[in-house]
Amino acid sequence: MARYRGSVCRLCRRENLKLFLKGDRCYSDKCAFDRHGYPPGDHGQRRGRKPSDYGIQLREKQKVKRIYALSEKQFRLFFEKAEKQRGITGINFLVLLERRLDNVVYRIGFVNSRSQARHFVRHNHFTVNGKKVNIPSFLVKIGDVIEVKEKSRKIQAVGDALGAVVRRGVPQWLDLEKEKFTGVVKSFPLREDLTMPMQEQLIVELYSK
Ligand code: SF4
Repeated sequence: MARYRGSVCRLCRRENLKLFLKGDRCYSDKCAFDRHGYPPGDHGQRRGRKPSDYGIQLREKQKVKRIYALSEKQFRLFFEKAEKQRGITGINFLVLLERRLDNVVYRIGFVNSRSQARHFVRHNHFTVNGKKVNIPSFLVKIGDVIEVKEKSRKIQAVGDALGAVVRRGVPQWLDLEKEKFTGVVKSFPLREDLTMPMQEQLIVELYSK
């Protein structure tokens, strides 16, 4: 599926949830969702028909895919990886998504959004355990040290993101040493660490059809 190139704020309105796709703007009074919370389009304010079970599952999948800013193919590949693991597929799936390097640099606070994270990872602005890693889907492990490269520390977007980290907070499974531009993976996230409203079981049901 082609990457979505329209207004990302429309996606929040479509999913009826703040997805935090635009960094600082999401916390400001310019947030389109806060200003017009109803779905986009001419019929956005009309009440629709009650959705089918399939429609509910599909919506949930779209929402989570948009939270992590992934294409259908990337999303599905991660789901298949989760299915091969022991344990509860839905939780395994979310944990895998959280362990992606692009998500981790966003969560630690080096950048303001996951799409910006992907761009920065691809452009070699970070190292993992001292080694260059430019693959956004790279899965971090416990104990990994993620660092902003020396030459990248002066980038305005990195400084802005680190400046806003107090407001956003860093999840308990990660540790940020702001002055050293370094983050450490202390543990893997638990389900309760993922605070966005996501019903992973609906995605499992959808993909099991
Ligand atoms: Fe969503 Fe608001 Fe951020 Fe736009 S500014 S991406 S509507 S949370």
